[in-house]
Amino acid sequence: MQKIALLGSTGSIGTSTLSVISRFPDRFNLVALSTNSNIGLLSLQARRFRPRAACVVDTKKAGRFRGMKGMKLYEGEQGLQRMLEDVKIDTLVVGIVGSSALLPILTSLNKIKTLILANKEALVIAGDIIIRKAKKMGVKILPVDSEHSAIFQCLESRRPSEIKKIYLTGSGGPLLRLSKKAFKDMSPERAIDHPKWKMGKKISVDSATMMNKGLEVIEAHHLFGVEIDQIEVLIHPETLVHSMVEFVDGSILAQMGRCDMRMPIQYALTYPRRFGSPVKGVSFSSLETIHFYLPDFKKFPCLEIAYDVARRGGTRPCVLNASNEVAVERFLRHEIRFTDIPRVIGKVLRAHRAIKDPGLKDILETERWARRKTGEFME
Ligand code: MG
Repeated sequence: MQKIALLGSTGSIGTSTLSVISRFPDRFNLVALSTNSNIGLLSLQARRFRPRAACVVDTKKAGRFRGMKGMKLYEGEQGLQRMLEDVKIDTLVVGIVGSSALLPILTSLNKIKTLILANKEALVIAGDIIIRKAKKMGVKILPVDSEHSAIFQCLESRRPSEIKKIYLTGSGGPLLRLSKKAFKDMSPERAIDHPKWKMGKKISVDSATMMNKGLEVIEAHHLFGVEIDQIEVLIHPETLVHSMVEFVDGSILAQMGRCDMRMPIQYALTYPRRFGSPVKGVSFSSLETIHFYLPDFKKFPCLEIAYDVARRGGTRPCVLNASNEVAVERFLRHEIRFTDIPRVIGKVLRAHRAIKDPGLKDILETERWARRKTGEFME
């Protein structure tokens, strides 16, 4: 029995993970759950899966969660850390969004065997630190982001020197066909209306600005040990191919399938084996055609900024991510325009004095600085 802790159990990755786990009751034992603030759903999940521990991160809401007999309750970010220290865990599934996943990940690397990562922000801001520590502690990292799961499946533990190029595909987001003129008055509701994937709000806005693809480039660089310029983003509106790897001998492998997160989640949970799933296959004969083309960097400046930051490295990806998190929050609250997002991120990056090989302390300080600076620039 794999002992599993699931962070972000009430979000879209969390609920998909539970739907996979519930189909394999003799393989997985869910021992800990966490939510930010969705008490209602957490209660239902706790009753169904009976974990040993649960944490509500939002301290204002935590008092309303009752839990059950024999279940230990934790609250707040510190409570989350303590829960991860207290409970015996084999596998940690990180389904929370944003850079707040970093410290829970680093804490857990001391004790787990496998890290299943749906969060990309932690890798973006501190990829070198996470990868180094995982190697040292012998922890396997299995990606759940659909593109990275695809690349991981194509690679099958080959070494970085055998990879020539990674084609990171993306649907192009909900604004692909819209003219750039319409971006200025883009409402949050329209921006998060994604045609292919149903996801949380933050990642949906990132998908609309294409910052998501930019973060994914940095994520792939860390996960697979390839240079930034070996990673090419391809727009593929049909989202049949989830990504491709070209090897040094010219052979190219693609991973395909429906857009259903249960597939990469199940693969990570049962890796290296494959088991049956309710996810349907693809009807190839009814496909008319599929397309691949290069992204429009002028129309989606966030992607260009992310590539530039990725190449230059240091603390810059941390600034990029923090500034983006703050700007997206403000956009979702109708406080800034859609087009202000890349503008403010660019401004904060220009004001930043980067540190070359940052330690954890540098990362945390940079993150605080970038959040504050982004707030100031938006006033
Ligand atoms: Mg993705």
